[in-house]
Amino acid sequence: TSSNGHPQRSVYLDHAATTQVLPEVVEAMLPFFTERYGNPSSVHAWGRAAHQGMEGSRRQVATVLGCRPREVVFTSGGTEADNLALKGVAWAYKRGGFEGKSPSMGPGHIIISAIEHHAILHSAEELEHYGFDVTVLPVDKHGMVDPDAVGRAMRRDTILVSIMYANNEIGTIQPVREIADVAHAGGALFHTDAVQAGGSLEINVGSLGADLLSLSAHKFYGPKGVGVLYIKAGSPVLPIQHGGSQESRRRASTENVPGIVGLGSALTRAQQSLDSNATYMRGLRDRLISGVQQIGNVHLMGHPEQRLPNNANFCIEGVEGETMLLKLDMRGIGASSGAACASGSTEPSHVLRALGISRELAQGSLRLTVGIDNTPEDIEYALSVLDACVSELREGSPAVARASA
Ligand code: PLP
Repeated sequence: TSSNGHPQRSVYLDHAATTQVLPEVVEAMLPFFTERYGNPSSVHAWGRAAHQGMEGSRRQVATVLGCRPREVVFTSGGTEADNLALKGVAWAYKRGGFEGKSPSMGPGHIIISAIEHHAILHSAEELEHYGFDVTVLPVDKHGMVDPDAVGRAMRRDTILVSIMYANNEIGTIQPVREIADVAHAGGALFHTDAVQAGGSLEINVGSLGADLLSLSAHKFYGPKGVGVLYIKAGSPVLPIQHGGSQESRRRASTENVPGIVGLGSALTRAQQSLDSNATYMRGLRDRLISGVQQIGNVHLMGHPEQRLPNNANFCIEGVEGETMLLKLDMRGIGASSGAACASGSTEPSHVLRALGISRELAQGSLRLTVGIDNTPEDIEYALSVLDACVSELREGSPAVARASA
């Protein structure tokens, strides 16, 4: 620590939580705050100027996703996109059903995985209170969903299968296409939460087989509070928010035009540099993984290969994750943990629990997610700090003293 008490170096390794907005993206957004501030629904010049910006972004998103612009619905973020996907399809079923699915077939059944984001888990739980049935599929020790298990869970009244593209904690990438095919074989719709995949993986809705797909701009160097739900033309999705006729009556409320413009700009940039960014981040990530593993008694969480290029997630024996985060923060490193402290006891996240990790091991959870703004020097600094922190924390930890004796 320097004399003024601030860390000598600050290294942000929490890009799965959120990213900085790129200066070029801010640049693209600025006119929509100050000059092109009209309401995109207004007929006058101010309205048209805003509308143009918004529709430009819609075309940019459609180009990246390989869909038609009118299949792109802008939302307030990934959470709303996920809610709209699940509840929108559920309400459509309740309101009379849709092609191949009639409410006479059963209460309506939705399949998700145990490691979905809370935006999916809690939406599904909420739908259970309204009479829907939900199957929560387990994952293997690497966090993979088995497409055959999806097939076995399918029912006559299965309306929707929602499995995330890549996991936010452990980075595991799911066999989305195979799962989509299984869902479609049973006449169900397929939704994927691609929030973490955005900016890191190719997202072509056709090749993924998605009828519905969620994105959030702040995960790919765009602004917070804006996202997308791709809705394949003709998919039965009723609105969950009522009011004006914006977004072709699929999502009422005056659009967040600057945010939408930022989303389009950020996604286009991410797409243009997809391969080079992924290669760059994978290099940093792999150095992190090998460096952390050298500490000893460290377990890599998630799939060894099928994982996001920027994700490293560990359980470190003999350390307490939350204490570790505080120590790292004091030395200028921003990291995250899959264990949440609730009233003094550290509860493992639902994702770590689903992997079958023991409560004891899950205590030492640490997630490091790199970004395009990190340098190799950042990683070396983080590794040396980590090494020191783990040693300090392990002193006086009898469990590991025994393990390494
Ligand atoms: N889904 C996943 C996989 C996420 O990682 C996040 C972000 O935390 C969300 C959904 C929610 O997105 P937002 O923060 O834009 O609501």
